[in-house]
Amino acid sequence: MIPNIEYFTPKTIAEALQLLSKQENVKIIAGGTDVITGFHQESSRFTKTGALIDINRIPELHQISETTGSVWIGAGCTFTQVVNSPVVQKEFPLLVQASSGVGSLQIRNRATIGGNFVNNAPQSADNSRTMPLQEFLIRPYCTQLAFNEIVTNITLAKLPGSYHGSYYKLGRRRGVAISRITVAALLNVVDDAIADIRFASGAATPIGMRFPEIEALAMNQKVSDDLLRKLAIQTGELVLERTGLRWSTAYKLPVLQQLCYQELFNAVYGKE
Ligand SMILES: Cc1cc2nc3c(=O)[nH]c(=O)nc-3n(C[C@H](O)[C@H](O)[C@H](O)COP(=O)(O)OP(=O)(O)OC[C@H]3O[C@@H](n4cnc5c(N)ncnc54)[C@H](O)[C@@H]3O)c2cc1C
Repeated sequence: MIPNIEYFTPKTIAEALQLLSKQENVKIIAGGTDVITGFHQESSRFTKTGALIDINRIPELHQISETTGSVWIGAGCTFTQVVNSPVVQKEFPLLVQASSGVGSLQIRNRATIGGNFVNNAPQSADNSRTMPLQEFLIRPYCTQLAFNEIVTNITLAKLPGSYHGSYYKLGRRRGVAISRITVAALLNVVDDAIADIRFASGAATPIGMRFPEIEALAMNQKVSDDLLRKLAIQTGELVLERTGLRWSTAYKLPVLQQLCYQELFNAVYGKE
């Protein structure tokens, strides 16, 4: 049940930050797809919430813009906005693909990228900070966001056109399904060798993560089927090491390894 609590609608980031620092037990609400569900489920993350700060009326949080080297996505942008943005479509097709698989159309129309990531540029009344996503995410439902901070934007560095990527989400159904495993591979192959690689998975590990060990193994190696198989097998072993044996391992491990192989293959041979 949603409790009877105070509800604020600031029009600027400064106003929101002031509310955050003055009020006790306040929570930001953006699309509300986690917050409202949390209230309904009486999740312990929300039982102490005494007030909500709705950030939807802050215009700059809804903007997507670009500079020469990067793309700036306001934390309040919905996944529908991300999917429909020409600049994101041009620069980050994998992000468009991943965003278009979130929940359902109704969820994507509400859910924001900031709410989902609780990402890399939180800002408090005292100062602002920027950090890589991997550092920001600590463990499930726990980030480095302080009580008086707002995520204002996600900044993505543009990449040269020689990078190719592939992404796959495995869920129990095609729509409105939570990810069981997601895999993303982004590679820059020069003269048949891997000049750069970013390889990540979500849901296979407690929080989404890149695999620096696998990336290091792949760097500067000549591309071959054997190499892609080796990287896929070792990714599975790494995940197993991190998560330990579970009831689902017998199913998940080979599926994860196959998906890793498939996404590396698609990234190398250009099938997005
Ligand atoms: C049916 C259903 C299907 C779903 N499917 C998927 C899926 O396929 N993939 C997936 O990844 N997720 C999925 N989700 C999860 C959910 O939609 C996302 O996590 C969503 O992006 C959260 O964004 P929001 O704007 O709704 O966040 P809210 O619910 O408004 O907030 C979520 C949390 O983030 C905080 N927050 C929000 N914005 C900010 C900000 N700018 N600064 C600081 N803190 C902030 C809030 O205080 C709260 O703690 C699904 C949810 C539902 C209900």
